Amino acid sequence: DEVVSKIAAGEVVVNPASVVKELVENSIDAGATQLEIVIKNGGKTYIKVSDNGNGMSKDDLLLAVERYTTSKISDLEDIYNITSYGFRGEALASIGEVSRLVITTSDGESSHKLEMIGGKVVKVSETFRERGTTVEVFDLFYNIPARRKFLSSERVEKRMVTEVVERFLITKPSVAFLFKDEESVIYNAPSSSLESRFSLIFPEVKDFQTIENFVQNDIEINGIISSPQFFRKNRTGQVFFVNGRFVLDNMLHLSLERGYGEALIEGTHPYAVIFINLPPKEIDVNIHPQKLQIKFSDPRIVYDTLARCVRERLRSVQG
Ligand code: ADP
Ligand code: MG
Repeated sequence: DEVVSKIAAGEVVVNPASVVKELVENSIDAGATQLEIVIKNGGKTYIKVSDNGNGMSKDDLLLAVERYTTSKISDLEDIYNITSYGFRGEALASIGEVSRLVITTSDGESSHKLEMIGGKVVKVSETFRERGTTVEVFDLFYNIPARRKFLSSERVEKRMVTEVVERFLITKPSVAFLFKDEESVIYNAPSSSLESRFSLIFPEVKDFQTIENFVQNDIEINGIISSPQFFRKNRTGQVFFVNGRFVLDNMLHLSLERGYGEALIEGTHPYAVIFINLPPKEIDVNIHPQKLQIKFSDPRIVYDTLARCVRERLRSVQG
C-alpha cells in the first residue's frame, strides 16, 4: 500500500550511526531503562546494543527480522505524533540483509537466539538470559563492497555514532546508557536529569539557563541555553528537537542566536539544547521521516517564538 511504498523509498541503513540509531530506538520503544552500546572500529566491524526492555517471544523474534512487520504500526501522518519511534518495521530486516546479525532476547518466559547472514535466518536456538534484548551486528556491508568502501574512516564513523548516542543522552535523561568503544568507556551515564546530561556532554559550559515550558502561539519550548560567555567557534554545540525528533534546520540556529542579540561576540556561537513541541498539523509530513530536515507550516512563527523565548530567558537572568 501507499504507506509501505513511501517508507520503502527510505534508506534506513547507511552507516554504523544509522544502525545504532535504529537499534537504540527499538530498545527505548521496548521500554528499556538501561542500555549498553558497544562499537568496534567505529562500528564498521561490530555494533552491539543491549537492553533490559520487554524482549520478544520466539514468534515475535521471527517476525521482527521480516520486512514491514512492526508491532507499532500507525499511519504516516502520525510520524510527529506517535509516542514510539518505530513504525516501518524496516530496520532490523534491512540491517540483517547487509550484515551478520545475532539477536538474543527474552520476554521473561523464554529466551531465544537468532542468527542471520545476509538476510537469511540461519539458526534459531533456545538460550538463557534475563529479560531484554541484545542485537549484535557484525561486519556491516560485508556483502556490498561498494557500500563498505563508501564508509568513512574509523575515527569519523565513531564520531557520528557518538553524536547519535549524545542525542539519546539528551532526549532520554532518565534512561541509563553505557557507551563503549572496544574496551574504553565513552559515556557512562546513569539515569539523571537533562541538566546533568548537558554537563556530561558539554563539561566546558559552566553557566547555563534552563528553559521550562515557555509557551506561545501553540508552540512549547524547553531546554538549556549557555550563558553567552560560553561558546564555540562553530554551531556544533547547538541541537534542536521537534516533537522529540532531532532536526537539522539552519534557521533554528540563526533564530537562537538572534535571541542572544548583542550579548554575543561576533563569530561566537552559544551552546543550546532546544526542544520545540507543536501540534503535528504545524509540520509538513511530506518530507521523508528518515531525513532530518523539517518543514514547518508557518516557519516564521516558530523562529520568532524561539528568538523571543531565548531573549526573555536571558533578560530574566540579567535582572
Ligand atoms: P519498527 O521499530 O519500525 O517496528 P524494526 O525493524 O526496527 O521495526 O523492529 C521490528 C520489530 O522487532 C519491532 O516492532 C519490535 O516488535 C521488535 N523489536 C526490535 N527490537 C526490539 C527490542 N530491542 N526489544 C523488543 N522488541 C524489539
Ligand atoms: Mg525500529
